[in-house]
Amino acid sequence: MSTLPEAPRTSAPEPIRVATAPAPAATAALPVQAEEIAFDIKNFSMWYGQRQALNDVTIRIPAKKVTAIIGPSGCGKSTFLRALNRMHELTPGTRLQGSLRHFGDDLYGPGVEAVEIRRRVGMVFQKSNPFPTMSIAENVLVGLRLNGVRDKAVLRERLEQSLRMSALWDEVKDVLGRPGTSLSGGQQQRLCIARSLAVQPETLLMDEPCSALDPIATAKIEELIQTLRESYTVVIVTHNMQQAARCSDRTAFFYMGRLIEFDETRKIFTNPGNPQTEAYVSGRFG
Ligand code: ADP
Ligand code: MG
Repeated sequence: MSTLPEAPRTSAPEPIRVATAPAPAATAALPVQAEEIAFDIKNFSMWYGQRQALNDVTIRIPAKKVTAIIGPSGCGKSTFLRALNRMHELTPGTRLQGSLRHFGDDLYGPGVEAVEIRRRVGMVFQKSNPFPTMSIAENVLVGLRLNGVRDKAVLRERLEQSLRMSALWDEVKDVLGRPGTSLSGGQQQRLCIARSLAVQPETLLMDEPCSALDPIATAKIEELIQTLRESYTVVIVTHNMQQAARCSDRTAFFYMGRLIEFDETRKIFTNPGNPQTEAYVSGRFG
């Protein structure tokens, strides 16, 4: 008889002790796994001549995740993205202020070359832009060749790797000598992604990469973005909110040059903290 397990004591429940324990203090003492940050941007403002396009943006974009940038037309999404790889320097009259770091390195530090930044931070544009006089293979390898890579084995390997990574290899492996422009719109956009990946960047920026594509080609790119996040940090500008909701981990909402809210994508679309975000994601303006 005495070996029988003790009956559970339902009359004096343990939870009383749990409820009064100083749980928050104990939790706070636990070491928190720090998230790796790709872009650490503080108080970033930017102007085109007299016109201010970005106003005091502070944001920490996580590495190896997909971050979507949403907001109405003209709110500074492309401007923001282009500053992340110093593309705006090609536009005369731009001026910026603030601190922009990519994996700890100052993007605008003294002695930092824009060319090296653009190798580490690739960019894919709204309209696919393969070089019209180049073959599929030449389009992929152009960046490497410009960087002085001549070794045939290396070029061959990087070609296949980049095309596989951009989910295009199976479709083009037998026609690598054909012009890049002979491909369909969706294939050309994946070719441009392959071209960016060939120089082994850490981060890939995409400015409305699907807005010129049909739904099937769009779905392929979205699927590709999911695989890219395993190896790269992806920042994608989109004015398609369904796309942001489908393929990103975090979403940043910009409005009139300001970052209004940045959070987990699910939170932005289901329970945003800011009334302007709520109005935008529920389609009340845009
Ligand atoms: P979005 O990508 O969100 O549509 P942009 O970043 O393209 O917005 O533009 C933000 C603001 O900066 C807009 O008011 C736009 O008119 C202005 N702008 C963009 N590019 C230039 C430029 N090259 N020269 C002057 N103003 C510009
Ligand atoms: Mg834009």
